[in-house]
Amino acid sequence: MRIDALALRNFRNYDALNVTFAPDCNVIVGENAQGKTNLLEAIVYLSSARSPRARAEKELISFGKSECSIKANAFARNRDFLLEIALAAGRRRKILINKVPAKKGSDLSDVLGAVYFCPEDLLLIRDGAAARRKFMDDALCQLRARYAQALSDYHRAYEHKTRILRDSEEYPSLLDTLPEFDLRMAQSGAVLIYYRARFCERLGEYARIAHRECSGGREELGVEYQTVSTISDPLAPIETIYDQLRAHQASHAAAERASRMCLSGPHKDDIAVRVNGLEARHFCSQGQVRTAALSLKLADREIHKTAIGEYPVMLLDDVLSELDPRRQEYVLNRIAGGQVFITCCEND
Ligand code: ATP
Ligand code: MG
Repeated sequence: MRIDALALRNFRNYDALNVTFAPDCNVIVGENAQGKTNLLEAIVYLSSARSPRARAEKELISFGKSECSIKANAFARNRDFLLEIALAAGRRRKILINKVPAKKGSDLSDVLGAVYFCPEDLLLIRDGAAARRKFMDDALCQLRARYAQALSDYHRAYEHKTRILRDSEEYPSLLDTLPEFDLRMAQSGAVLIYYRARFCERLGEYARIAHRECSGGREELGVEYQTVSTISDPLAPIETIYDQLRAHQASHAAAERASRMCLSGPHKDDIAVRVNGLEARHFCSQGQVRTAALSLKLADREIHKTAIGEYPVMLLDDVLSELDPRRQEYVLNRIAGGQVFITCCEND
């Protein structure tokens, strides 16, 4: 999967841009505010019709202009594709795939896959568990329809249960409906745990290799899925996980009613990330955090490749700063397979 050519009109700070790309590694060099991130944003947009940073579509249109377009020649599944997106202030966006109008933005993802790494992704390591759950959820929702369904069922039941517990002092009869929501949370929660455990296992395998190579063999990355304490083996069959979730709910029922909070379930899951055995979140240097976050993204790319049969496009924004020459050399020369885009400043 690759992008051979890109044309932008009135997109962000580009009036008109026509570029062709190499099938392997593309390095985009420039001073600050030249439009490097904007260029990657255009590619992400081509892969999903979603911008990783704009709050509204119209932010993508150049200041003072009323419309913009993004076009690309892409190659995927052994075929050529022409992708065209037109945005206009106050009008619906138009997406054409080989001149045929697409019904929804996600049709683009069926053609072009992209894994995007940006400086905010360092929070994947540094932030609380929610950032890592989101990483798992985003990746798994793309890979498994069943997971996406279970996630939405789980959230709905969780919200209900949280509200019931919160309001139960005033309306004690609400508690009668709790068993129904516990049941739903255990059913959908078991599916979440089942898939997350498998995802983390593969993530760990691939990320360990990337991190080891990037650090010149000096560092060992550990990735461990952490879930509800009664789950003895998250890789067990769904039925076993379900039974153990039910047991956990039963043992926490009294505490949940007393605290009026939902204490039991995979909404507290996390991925423990360790470098040489030390918890990365608290003990890693800047460069180590960057290496670990990059390794997780590279692992995500490998998992995508296994699922769809070819590498998605890899977009690395500002990944080189804070990396020593050995690690920079790895990023620039040794990310094998697939098309890669790397932005950096002149002094990198
Ligand atoms: P850095 O090295 O600092 O990350 P960069 O090359 O990645 O810089 P970009 O984030 O791509 O820079 O932004 C380039 C410029 O685009 C910014 O100065 C920004 O003000 C400008 N810009 C953003 N949105 C628009 C828009 N809708 N119209 C015109 N210019 C815009
Ligand atoms: Mg930038």
